Amino acid sequence: MATVKRDYYEVLGIAKNAEGDVIKSAYRKMAIKYHPDKNPDDPTAEDKFKEAAEAYEILSDGDKRARYDRFGHQGGGGSGHAQNMEDIFSQFGDIFGGGGGGFEGFFGGGRGQGGRRVKKGSNLRIKLKLDLEEVANGVEKKIKVKRYVACQPCSGTGAKNGTELKTCATCQGTGQTKRVVNTMLGQMVSASTCPTCHGEGKTISTNCDVCKGEGRQLHEEVIPINIPAGVANDMQLSMSGKGNFPERGGVPGDLLIQIEEEPHEFLKRDGNNIMFEQYISFMDAALGANLEVPTIEGKVKIKVDPGTQPGKILRLRGKGIKDLNGYGRGDQLIHLNVWTPKNVSSQEREILEKLRESDNFTPHPGKNEKGFFEKVKEYFQ
Ligand SMILES: [Zn+2]
Ligand SMILES: [Zn+2]
Repeated sequence: MATVKRDYYEVLGIAKNAEGDVIKSAYRKMAIKYHPDKNPDDPTAEDKFKEAAEAYEILSDGDKRARYDRFGHQGGGGSGHAQNMEDIFSQFGDIFGGGGGGFEGFFGGGRGQGGRRVKKGSNLRIKLKLDLEEVANGVEKKIKVKRYVACQPCSGTGAKNGTELKTCATCQGTGQTKRVVNTMLGQMVSASTCPTCHGEGKTISTNCDVCKGEGRQLHEEVIPINIPAGVANDMQLSMSGKGNFPERGGVPGDLLIQIEEEPHEFLKRDGNNIMFEQYISFMDAALGANLEVPTIEGKVKIKVDPGTQPGKILRLRGKGIKDLNGYGRGDQLIHLNVWTPKNVSSQEREILEKLRESDNFTPHPGKNEKGFFEKVKEYFQ
């Protein structure tokens, strides 16, 4: 699908005559807002983040901006391709206050001693379907995942047993190559990831035979996960360290589990309560009845009192969903509807006609007959 590129000024939300500082601060705002780590549930965040980076790349460069103003996207000379996150951060590192390398300095955390970051592997995302019973009580699930783990023979370094890691000759072990670029804002030192060592600062003399120097291997494993009671659709649980191991050493990413709640055939969830619609016959409403209704723990007997009006709500205490934060348990609410026959035989008609004029069958609503919404309101107060 071809996408139409948005106007760079629009992307950053600035005026056509905006000056350097305004551009810079607009971009900084966008980058913080759309940072993928801050928006794990929004798959469009990364694209917006990259779009903002591209707009900034052009508008922050006097020549490129002038060409873009004259010729639009054709003349801007923008990289046009989706840059990778690492490059964006190292390119504009000074904006994020990270001294030219990475974003963790800015977002706090992650930076190891001596300024080098501990490399973290990518996160694994899975969806997990749960039925209402599992949601109500919590459950232990065993999930089969394929993930990268550290290569055993080389302990995740990628180097063949016994061979040394050498300091990268290209970057002298810093992991970055720097160049000075001229921008509207003056000279800027632009740092980018060293192409030789991919930012690791070290290169391997001889690759490990097993992983071919990657330092990791794909591995299938079954991970038990304890799902607490009371989770809801789209909630995300995370298991730290159960994601992918990064190439050539570091710490593994996380396993992110997104909950998908499967609808129940009869029972409907409303917060921690469970709603159930029960139709009763006109006779049961008038004379009373004993019924069985489904709950998440199986069938339960309920009593319908004689003279029950349609819309009455019965409450089964503690038959709802356990609260996620441990604040007790919800109830099951049974909403009683009275079934009115759609067709009647001539014999039935005769009986009903006889009752039509009877005083007991004439409505006499008193102050005890509350409307449905009032009843519901009462329950949720
Ligand atoms: Zn290097
Ligand atoms: Zn290996």
